Amino acid sequence: MATTHNLGFPRIGKRRELKFALESYWKGESSLLELEKTAADLRKNHWQQQAELDWLPVADFSFYDHVLDTSLLLGNLPERTDASLADSDRYFQAARGRSSTALQQQTTAAAEMTKWFDTNYHYLVPEFSADTTFELNAVRLLGQYQEAVNQGHQAKPVLLGPVSYLWLGKAKDDSNKLDLLKHLLPVYEQCLSELVEAGADWVQIDEPILATELDSDWQHALQQAYFALNKTPARLLLTSYFGPLRENLNLACELPTAGLHIDAVNARDEVIKVIDWLPAHKVLSLGIINGRNIWKTDLNSLLDWLEPLSQRLGERLWLAPSCSLLHVPVDLAQEDELDADIANWLAFAVQKLDELTIIATALNQGREQVTEALQSNHAAISARKHSAKVHNPAVQQRLAAVTADMSERQNSYTQRIRQQQARLPLPLFPTTTIGSFPQTAEIRLSRQQYRKGELHQHSYQAQMQQQIQYAIEEQLKVGLDVLVHGEAERNDMVEYFSEQLEGYIFSRYGWVQSYGSRCVKPPIIFGDISRPQAMTVTWIQYAQSLTEKPVKGMLTGPVTMLNWSFVRDDQPRSATCLQLALAIRDEVLELEQAGVGIIQIDEAALREGLPLRRQDWQQYLDWAVNCFRITANGVADDTQIHTHMCYSEFNDIIEAIAAMDADVITIETSRSDMELLDVFNAFDYPNEIGPGVYDIHSPNIPTVREIRELMEKAAQRIPPERLWVNPDCGLKTRQWAEVRPALIAMVEAARQLRLDAAA
Ligand code: GLN
Ligand code: ZN
Repeated sequence: MATTHNLGFPRIGKRRELKFALESYWKGESSLLELEKTAADLRKNHWQQQAELDWLPVADFSFYDHVLDTSLLLGNLPERTDASLADSDRYFQAARGRSSTALQQQTTAAAEMTKWFDTNYHYLVPEFSADTTFELNAVRLLGQYQEAVNQGHQAKPVLLGPVSYLWLGKAKDDSNKLDLLKHLLPVYEQCLSELVEAGADWVQIDEPILATELDSDWQHALQQAYFALNKTPARLLLTSYFGPLRENLNLACELPTAGLHIDAVNARDEVIKVIDWLPAHKVLSLGIINGRNIWKTDLNSLLDWLEPLSQRLGERLWLAPSCSLLHVPVDLAQEDELDADIANWLAFAVQKLDELTIIATALNQGREQVTEALQSNHAAISARKHSAKVHNPAVQQRLAAVTADMSERQNSYTQRIRQQQARLPLPLFPTTTIGSFPQTAEIRLSRQQYRKGELHQHSYQAQMQQQIQYAIEEQLKVGLDVLVHGEAERNDMVEYFSEQLEGYIFSRYGWVQSYGSRCVKPPIIFGDISRPQAMTVTWIQYAQSLTEKPVKGMLTGPVTMLNWSFVRDDQPRSATCLQLALAIRDEVLELEQAGVGIIQIDEAALREGLPLRRQDWQQYLDWAVNCFRITANGVADDTQIHTHMCYSEFNDIIEAIAAMDADVITIETSRSDMELLDVFNAFDYPNEIGPGVYDIHSPNIPTVREIRELMEKAAQRIPPERLWVNPDCGLKTRQWAEVRPALIAMVEAARQLRLDAAA
C-alpha cells in the first residue's frame, strides 16, 4: 500500500483571507486574537481539504514566512527586535520593521529578504554571528500539532532542517555559520523529542539544499546533523525538492533517516538510482505531482511508470507533490471566468491533491477503482495535446524560419554609436528615467473603471493622454535629456503585455504568496504566443508628439515575461521564450518604424531564471540572451536599444549581459555605493551604462552631492562618455513630491559633471 502525504499547503487562503487579516492587524484595525482566529480557521479549512491524505502537514502554515518561523522556533530572531513584545509582534518586527500600529514600539530594521531557491517566494534571511545562541521556543509548533490532532488528523510536523537553515542565513560578522551547527543540533533534538512526546510519529525535515551544489563542508554538516538527530525517537522524512540530487544522491540516500522524499517530477530519471541506493528499511517518498506549475498531471502515463516501482517498493512507497504547494494557487473550482476548455487542463493545489489520491487509489486498489477519473484525465490531456487553441501553425512556421542573423545588429557598438549620436545629439552624462512615473490614485481609478467597463475607450484614452502630457511636462521642467511616457496605462510590466498577446490566460483568484502578505497572480501561458497588433506604439507616439526631446519606447523583454508567468510544460522554457521574443521583436520593429529612436527592453527578471546549480547556468544564459538579442537586434544602427535590470549582483553573469549587446544598460547600484561596479575593473564592459544613482525603494531624496559622488566613483571604472545618469528603477511606487526634487538633483549633478569634464 502506498502512503499519501503533502509537503505543504498554500497559507494565504483561497480569497487571500490571511493577507487581509494581517494587513488589518498591522493597521491597528483588528486584534491579535482576531488574527489568530482567522489563521486557525484557515488551518482547519486547509486540513479538511487534505483530509483524504494519510499524513497532513502541520506547521507549514505561517504568518509571514516559514524561515522566519524557524528563527522564532530556534530563538534566533534578530536581537534588535523588542523582546518585551509578544512573540507574534516581535516576529512582525523582524519581518517588516514594525508590528501593529496600535502598539507602542520602536521600528527596527527589517530582516533582509531574498528569494527562496529558484522560486518567486521570498524568505527572511536568518542572522548569525560568532556568539549566536539558540533556544527552543516550540509553543506555536506544538500548538498547531495539537490543533491538528484535536481535529482528528494524522499530522506530520514540517521543519526546515538545521543545515539548510544555516545555509539560508547570513553571518553578520566574519564567522563561519557552520560553526553554529553544534549549538543548533541540541535544540533540534529537543524539538523532536517534544514533538514525539506530544504524539508525533513522522516528522518531515526539509533540506532543500540537497538540490544545490554543496562543498564538502556542507556535505559533512549534513552527515553530522543527521547522525545526531538519529538519536531522537522521531521518524524523520528527509525532504529534498526543486530538482535533482545529482552528486548529493548517495549522501541523501545514506543519511540515517527513516525516509527520503525526492522530486520525481524534475528528476524522474534519478528515481531508479535512488531505489538502488536506498537502504531497504527506508521509506521512499516520490514527489510525483508538480508543485510548481498549474497543469494537470497525465495520470495514466504516470501510472504506467509508477506501477512497477510500487511493486518493487510495496509499503515503502510514499507519494506526494514534488514540493510544497505554496507555489501554486489554491483552488481552481472558484475560477468561474476561465475558458472552459483551458480550465479543464489545469490543476491548482486542491486539484493536485485530488490527483494524488487518484494515483494512490489506482496503485493500492487497482485502476478499475478510478476508471472514470482516469478516463476524464486522459480526455483532458489529449484535448490539450491536440487543441487548436494551443498550437498555432503560423507561430510554428516563424519559429522554424528563425535565422542566426536575426539576433545580430548590423554593426558593432562602436560603429552604431556614431550613427546614434548623429541622430540623437545627447550631452555627456545624459539623464533619463527607467520608465514609470508615480501611479497616482487618479491613474489607478481610471484604469479600474476602464477595466470594469465603466469608462469608454475614448474617455479612458483621453485621461491617459492627460497623464502622459503631465509626465512629459514635468520631465521638461526638470530638464531630463531622454524622456519616457510614464507607463500610466500599465498595471504591471508583465500583465500589460500578456493581456495583449495571444496564448495567455488570466485567473481571477490564482494568487501565489510572494512575501508576507504580498501575493502575485502570474498570467498563464497556455499556447503559442503571437502579437495580434501593436501594444505600445500609439502611447509613445502621442508622448513624442508633445516634445522635441527623444521619448524612449518601453517594453518588457521575453525572459522577464517568461520568468514571471506560469509557463507551458509541453515544450521547453526556451521554446516558449523564443515565441515571446518574436512577438516583442515585432513591437520593437513597429516602434522603430513609427520613428522611435530609443527603445528600452526591460529584463528585470533575467537573473531570477538562473538554475539552482551553477553548472546549468550557461545553458540557460545562452538561450535567454539569444532570445533578448532576437527581440532587440533587428533594428537599424541608429536606433538605440536600452535594457534595464533591477538588481546589482551581476558580477557572475557580466559576460552574458555584455553579450546581450544593448547599446545602454541601466542597473541598480545606488544602495551598494557603486561597489558593485568593481566588476568593471576586471571586465571591460563595451557599451554604455547607467548605474542607478537614486534608490527608488527609499523615500529619501538624494542630494546633488551624493549623486555626483556616486557618478565620480562610476567614472573611475567606466569612461565618462559611456555613462548615463538615472534612477535605480521605475518610479511608480513613489510620489511626485519625492520624484521631482530627486530628478532635479540628478539633472543638476549631471550639469556639474559636464562642467567638470569640460574644465
Ligand atoms: N520600465 C519599468 C518601470 O519603470 C521597469 C520596472 C522594473 O524594472 N521592475 O516601471
Ligand atoms: Zn527595475
